[in-house]
Amino acid sequence: NTGLDAADRSLVDGVTAGQLRPLAKTITLIESQREDHKLRAQRVLEALLPHTGRAMRVGISGVPGVGKSTFIEALGLYLIEQGLRVAVLAVDPSSSVTGGSILGDKTRMELLSQNPAAFIRPSPSACSLGGVAEKTRESMLVCEAAGFDVIIVETVGVGQSETAVAGMTDIFCLLQLPNAGDDLQAIKKGIMEIADLIVINKADIDPAAAMRARSQIKTALHMLRPASSNWAVPVLTLSALHKQGIADFWTAVTDYRKALTASGEFAAKRQQQAMAWMWELIDAGLRSRFRNHPLVKQELPELARAVQEGGTTPSIAAQRLLGHL
Ligand code: GDP
Repeated sequence: NTGLDAADRSLVDGVTAGQLRPLAKTITLIESQREDHKLRAQRVLEALLPHTGRAMRVGISGVPGVGKSTFIEALGLYLIEQGLRVAVLAVDPSSSVTGGSILGDKTRMELLSQNPAAFIRPSPSACSLGGVAEKTRESMLVCEAAGFDVIIVETVGVGQSETAVAGMTDIFCLLQLPNAGDDLQAIKKGIMEIADLIVINKADIDPAAAMRARSQIKTALHMLRPASSNWAVPVLTLSALHKQGIADFWTAVTDYRKALTASGEFAAKRQQQAMAWMWELIDAGLRSRFRNHPLVKQELPELARAVQEGGTTPSIAAQRLLGHL
């Protein structure tokens, strides 16, 4: 922790004391694009690292309208009743396009956001999904250092953001609507394969339909290779609106943690995630170093043209450019 100036020191102390303002400020630092902020963020994060790792990291996904914010609010309030502190983060790849985030919006979880045991943060905006995911991962660590027991990372059921969230959480939960065909979409997109827990929401509307959807999904799951031999993916039905099934959901999450901790898979998964994260950053760093290299910049346009016109092969051009690194 040496080398921290007074401002950074006070952020670290504030975060580890569980204070919300220093927590929000640190996340703002992490999300900043300024080079000096990035350096400060790394220093603060490094000082916070020994205080991280204790939370349960829960990923929640589902198409818009499935009831994610209703569910997260009900779950969050339930957990707070149990004496836990809950942070909600969001990964929304569209936030860089729209400028603001539709996810993690405080107005969507009004009761939860007013609760002092909760912290809600909308998706960071960054130029790429990789950038959004990286900032969210780091923000998650800051929330852990601030003593939050459960970190919920929400994402929309579109595109690759789900893979990114599954790659940073301990358990990835997929919210589904109780209509047939919805589950087929999830299978097609390969999302059911990465789900550790499936929830059919809005079961209050048509309980029989929800049960039918449940057995369909269970059948579909039998065709997929299980990620762990110690865990059969449960399919739960619940009503977020009427707060029914929330306790059962949390029991399933804690069962998951127990089962995978006993087999050693829980810790192994986090280690794998950390390694994958490191390699992602190395890849991104190499790519940017390559593109910014003066000789690459100088030779790239001409070599690109030569490749397009058949004057040289992609392989020869790539070799030559990579040689400058
Ligand atoms: P999100 O876009 O996935 O965050 O979905 P919302 O939480 O905003 O919910 C979309 C709509 O579905 C809202 O009008 C909710 O009140 C409603 N909704 C959410 N959960 C339930 C539920 O369990 N039952 C019923 N009947 N409606 C629900």
